Amino acid sequence: METAAYAAMSAGAPLEPHTIERRDLRPHDVLIDIKYSGICHSDIHQAREEWFTSIFPMVPGHEIAGIVSAVGSDVTDFKPGDRVGVGVFVGACMECDNCKRGLENYCFKGFVPTYNGKDYEGTVMHGGYSSAIVVEDHYVLHIPDGIELDVAAPLLCAGITTYSPLREWGAGPGKKVGIMGLGGLGHMGVKHAHAMGAEVTLISHSPSKEEDAKRLGADHFLLLSDKQAMKDNAMTFDLIVNTVSAPIDLNPVINLLATDGTMAYVGLPDKPLEMSIFPLNMQRRRIAGSNIGGIRETQEMLDFCAEHGYASDVEVISADQINEAWERVVNSDVRYRFVIDASTF
Ligand code: NAP
Ligand code: ZN
Repeated sequence: METAAYAAMSAGAPLEPHTIERRDLRPHDVLIDIKYSGICHSDIHQAREEWFTSIFPMVPGHEIAGIVSAVGSDVTDFKPGDRVGVGVFVGACMECDNCKRGLENYCFKGFVPTYNGKDYEGTVMHGGYSSAIVVEDHYVLHIPDGIELDVAAPLLCAGITTYSPLREWGAGPGKKVGIMGLGGLGHMGVKHAHAMGAEVTLISHSPSKEEDAKRLGADHFLLLSDKQAMKDNAMTFDLIVNTVSAPIDLNPVINLLATDGTMAYVGLPDKPLEMSIFPLNMQRRRIAGSNIGGIRETQEMLDFCAEHGYASDVEVISADQINEAWERVVNSDVRYRFVIDASTF
């Protein structure tokens, strides 16, 4: 099926209109008419080859919300007209211990990414900056009725990526949680941590974001450059979820953690970070990593958002505004997720 899309034709090139082919439906496939596609900073890192060698032409996009338009013969959980989402991966081995535990995101064989990768047969995958996508049913999520599709799209990556570490390290009543960076991931982290009942602090390098942080659910705002405030908050956080996309000096941030506190890193800067081990050692602090979440947990997160009445704060744009939006993301000037109207591809 010929499908309209936007693609980067080479590393660092601006995105431009492009046509891709979607496969014919297999028995377990779902054909989705994409309505909205979120812009994640990972799209930019990969299209600019900031992490590793990428595959071009690249159609990015792994925050997909749309309507089912057809299903394969063996699909039982979805029907045409259903409101659905697709996130960062569209396949996994389903045989390894992690897949069996619902942790397809940590599949031993490596999951099949929604774009900038190949499936296990070697076919290059193309993502959500397009008008339709075909995905195996196991990797398709139900979007609850209470959430509109435009504000649902970012939940499929930014939403689950922050929800998973908050759950894993016990955010909740009586816990002091820091969310570092108020971008796409960070604003979802603030909303989730607030809904989970934690005391939430937004840790930022942008003084202009204090008001928004509090509107989104933060109890406190901590500016990284405010040396006195950083000192006053030392040794107080049980958990910090770090969403920062750029390489930064971690040493002052580690000191914010309480004894036995954890910093869960979800931001993926393009360069290694340098830090002293002493502040970790001296207070039995931990630095951990976390990568999106499994399918079961992603559905749990969508249902949690619906139950608590929130989703993403978005700015809807048309496809011809993607390049401009990417520049704003890189300049920390997104409030708080760009979402592309897929009817404009
Ligand atoms: P984003 O919208 O650009 O947000 C990143 C935020 O980091 C910015 O808004 C800014 O917040 C802060 N920041 C940026 N440059 C900074 C600097 N030089 N010093 C201090 N803070 C800085 O990006 P995103 O889409 O949320 O993604 C964030 C990162 O997570 C990216 O690296 C992305 O690739 C990665 N990611 C990881 C996963 C995963 O599963 N692990 C999933 C999705 C994305 P303030 O202005 O408030 O400081
Ligand atoms: Zn993402």
